[in-house]
Amino acid sequence: MSIFAKIIAREIPADIVYEDDVCLAFRDIAPRAPTHILVIPKKPIVGLSDLTVEDEAIMGRCVVAASEVARQQGLDNGYRLVVNCGDDGGQEVPHLHFHLLGGRAMSWPPG
Ligand code: 5GP
Repeated sequence: MSIFAKIIAREIPADIVYEDDVCLAFRDIAPRAPTHILVIPKKPIVGLSDLTVEDEAIMGRCVVAASEVARQQGLDNGYRLVVNCGDDGGQEVPHLHFHLLGGRAMSWPPG
């Protein structure tokens, strides 16, 4: 069971800012920006590479939820939504998650 599955199951604590029947959003434990929230599907999908057409609605719901959380958090000047995938993408936790980063200007390209 991944660390995020344990957060979904309330087996370990997290600062949850949004929840619906499909996804959960909580503050990153090691924030890389003034606002750093992780939006995850409740379904235990490992990463982007594992998605199938059956996951279209779930992923759509997560993106809309991220947009709602950004609005709720007052990120009116913009933000970045990032998914790291696999070793080269820098993914550490094997449960698909969107990083919602805001509260400062972001540089490009990412490192
Ligand atoms: P990844 O590198 O997989 O894209 O991102 C994983 C993120 O999960 C990192 O930003 C890391 O700080 C965060 N993270 C890891 N463990 C925990 C935890 O137990 N609680 C919370 N809230 N965030 C975590």
